[in-house]
Amino acid sequence: MSKVLIIGAGGVGQVVTHKCASRRDIFSEITLASRTLSKCDVIASRIPSPVKTARVDADNVSEVVDLIRSEEPNIVINVALPYQDIPIMDACLETGVDYLDTANYEPPEVARFEYSWQWAYHDRFAGKGVMALLGSGFDPGVTNVYTAFAAKNLLDEIQELDIIDANAGSHGQPFATNFNPEINIREVTARCRHWENGEWIETPPLSKRESFDFPGGIGPMNIYRLYHEELESIVKHFPTIRKAQFWMTFSENYLKHLEVLQNVGMTRIDEIDYNGQKIIPIQFLKALLPDPASLGPLTKGKTCIGIIARGIKDGKRKQVYIYNICDHEACYREVASQAISYTTGVPAVVGAMMMLTRKWRKAGVWNMEQFDPEPFLKELEIMGLPTVVLDGGEWGEL
Ligand code: NDP
Repeated sequence: MSKVLIIGAGGVGQVVTHKCASRRDIFSEITLASRTLSKCDVIASRIPSPVKTARVDADNVSEVVDLIRSEEPNIVINVALPYQDIPIMDACLETGVDYLDTANYEPPEVARFEYSWQWAYHDRFAGKGVMALLGSGFDPGVTNVYTAFAAKNLLDEIQELDIIDANAGSHGQPFATNFNPEINIREVTARCRHWENGEWIETPPLSKRESFDFPGGIGPMNIYRLYHEELESIVKHFPTIRKAQFWMTFSENYLKHLEVLQNVGMTRIDEIDYNGQKIIPIQFLKALLPDPASLGPLTKGKTCIGIIARGIKDGKRKQVYIYNICDHEACYREVASQAISYTTGVPAVVGAMMMLTRKWRKAGVWNMEQFDPEPFLKELEIMGLPTVVLDGGEWGEL
C-alpha cells in the first residue's frame, strides 16, 4: 500500500493515473498534480475511485518540495516535460522520496539529449538512500528491458542492436504529433547519432531510410534513422555492442509538413522578436497544432516497437527480434488515450510497481537495463503490453 504523486496531466499522465487506479493493491492513494489544475480535475473525474488533484509549477523546486511534504508520497512519477526532470529530482532529493521519469532532461535552450545531467545525481541519491529510475516509458524504457532480456537469456554477447519504432496508426489530421509537439519536433529535427565501433557517428536528421516488414499485420513501412536517448545508456551498459541504431516510421505527409515548417523557421527553439514581443517559434507552433490528447478518439491502427539484437550464442551468429504490438482503438476503449500515450504510461506504472514492491530497489540513479528484466516484463504483460520474442534466425540486414 503506497502513495503516489503523479506530476503532469497530459496524454501520458492520463494513462498513468488510470493504470495506477486499476492497481489499488499497490497505489492505495493517488495525487495528480500539474501546471493546469483543470486538466488534473478532468482526468480525476473519469476515474471511479478517488484521485486527489493539485496545482504545481514543477520548474519551481520549492513548490514541488511543498507538495511532496503535504502529500507524503512514497514515489513521484514525473510525466511532465523533460525540462522538469532536474527540478523534480532536486525536490525528491531534498525530501528523500523515490523518483521515476520517462524522458531524459533537456535544457530548453538546446535540443541536446544526454543523461549526463541526471547521472551526475547518482552519488547524492545513493548517499541519501533514494532511488531514481530514468526513462521508464517504451522507448526509452521497455526497449532497454528487451535488450537486457536478450543479453540475459538469448545471446552470450550482443554485437549489433536496432531499435525500431513503428506507428502504423492514422489520425486523419493533416499534421499532428502523437506526443507533446515541442518535444517530438525537437527530437526528430536533432542531428542523428548512431554508435559504431566505439564512437558516435553524426549524420543529418532522417538522412538514412530503409524499409522494414513489420509483424502483426502491419507489413512493410519506411523507417528513418534518428538519435534516441536510450542508445547512450544501452551502449554504456552493454559494451560488447559494436553498432546501435534507432529507427522510426514517418508518413510522407508528416515529413513533407516537417520539411516546410523547418524551411520557414517554425521549428526554431531560439527566441525571436515579433512586434516587440519575444516568442519561440516552436512553442507558437505547438499552440496551433492539435493537442495529442485530442487524437485519442480519431486514431486507428497499431504500433509496433521492438529491438533486433544480433550477436553470438554458443559460438554461432544469431539474431533475435523482441517486440510489442499495441492497438490504438483498444487503448482508447480502455483508458481514453491513443497507443503512444498508452505505451509510455503503462511502463511508467510498471516501473513504479517494481520500485514499490522492491523487486527493483537500489539507492542511486539507474537506467532500466540495469535491473532484472523478467519481473518487469511479466507485470508489463499483465498491465496490457505483451511481449513477443522471435528467438533465432540468420543474421540479416534490416
Ligand atoms: P503533454 O504535453 O501531453 O503533457 C505534459 C504535461 O506536463 C501537461 O499536463 C503540462 O501542463 C505539464 N507540464 C508542463 N510543464 C509543467 C510544469 N512546469 N509544471 C507542472 N506541469 C507541467 O505530454 P505527453 O503526456 O505526451 O508526454 C509526457 C512525457 O512523456 C514527456 O516528457 C515526453 O517526452 C514523455 N514521452 C516518453 C515516451 C517514451 O516512450 N519514453 C514516449 C512519449 C512521451 P499544461 O497542460 O499546463 O501544459
